[in-house]
Amino acid sequence: MTVQVNTVQGKRTVDDLGRTLIHEHVLVGFPGWFMDARMPAFDRREAVARCVDAFQQLHAYGVRTVIDPCPMDLGRDVDVIAEVSQKSGVTLICATGAYVESMGIPYTFNELSVDQIVECFQKEIEDGVAATGIKCGVIKIATGEGLVSEYERKILTAAAKAAKLTGAPLISHTENCSCGHDQIDIVTGEGLPASHMIVGHSDGRDDHPYQKALADRGAYVGFDRFGLEMMIPDAIRMKNLKAMVDCGHKDRVMVSHDTVNCWLGSYAGGDPADLQATLPNWRMTHLFENIFPELKRMGLTDEVLDGIVVDNPRRWFEEAAKSA
Ligand SMILES: [Zn+2]
Repeated sequence: MTVQVNTVQGKRTVDDLGRTLIHEHVLVGFPGWFMDARMPAFDRREAVARCVDAFQQLHAYGVRTVIDPCPMDLGRDVDVIAEVSQKSGVTLICATGAYVESMGIPYTFNELSVDQIVECFQKEIEDGVAATGIKCGVIKIATGEGLVSEYERKILTAAAKAAKLTGAPLISHTENCSCGHDQIDIVTGEGLPASHMIVGHSDGRDDHPYQKALADRGAYVGFDRFGLEMMIPDAIRMKNLKAMVDCGHKDRVMVSHDTVNCWLGSYAGGDPADLQATLPNWRMTHLFENIFPELKRMGLTDEVLDGIVVDNPRRWFEEAAKSA
């Protein structure tokens, strides 16, 4: 039977996903974003119009599906995501799950048991988010730098259990290319194959051995911050992505930009517009305008690049659904 995936507009078969970006945000607000009273009030209509324009530009490059892995605690608004999807023609997939302890909202899940958190994630996948009827298609997990906190271990354990019950795949946040192996250990410890997950943000350091080791274990490796060059130049990301293809792991890499199309409040105390101004390439079409042409000059074929944005996301959903 063909595997079906929850999108904000209902179920789609995996064959209908087409070209897919696995990590872009419609809207992000860090906890307490509304407390920065200096920032202009959120203008929903303007935000939606700006997002629709950005997603239509992406659609012109043949992208048909985008995953917005915003966890429950980062200002997630599935109604906004659904409206942007419906108006832009790009299929969007939203997430349940929770963020890193230091930048998330850990109080409630600290109080709940693992089984109770499993129930929350499962409910958002099977019944939908609150009363919206919009069902989540992926589960977000996250760890901070260097060490997985007890809270994060609890969330990852609950997420893996919910993934096993529902067949929804896992998509992660890591910091500075650390804890990817710990994430895989926790997920596989719950009886899932490593291929159930994308170890996100694995492109943040010039570290091919780390990236290759994750793929050797069967996990998908996220080269998902193209354009965020304050962390590492794209030239390094491209060099390492090509190295993954050259060592036989073209089936294990995922690409995206981790863009934030609209912000609630400030970012690290500053105006997000200033951040965007320092990152001219941090936009959803950058891969198709600049990165793929350069990768082709470096020797990657259209077939390989298409496989990365079409076949890999499809296989990830497909295999995850079958391991439930
Ligand atoms: Zn992100």
